[in-house]
Amino acid sequence: MRIINRFENICQKCKSTIPIDTQVEWTKGSGITHITCPTSEDKFRDITPLTFVEARGLTNCQLCESEANYTDTYYYENYRLCERCWEENLNAT
Ligand SMILES: [Zn+2]
Ligand SMILES: [Zn+2]
Repeated sequence: MRIINRFENICQKCKSTIPIDTQVEWTKGSGITHITCPTSEDKFRDITPLTFVEARGLTNCQLCESEANYTDTYYYENYRLCERCWEENLNAT
């Protein structure tokens, strides 16, 4: 069922935040999802690609901005991501 999001909420499918006043798909008992989830490319459009050296110098994930340490960090082309974001955005099949 399509409703208008009245509270900022998390999409149950892609786990990103849906702003207020967005049309969303609501299923009783399982919460709301985007009508069309943004693709990882949409998310990447907002962050700046880095050189490899710059990416290595960052300590925070470029998507969620949580701290990404050396064992929990993935480089994808020119982005620095934490393990969670990498799994969610790039490892999904
Ligand atoms: Zn979504
Ligand atoms: Zn992250």
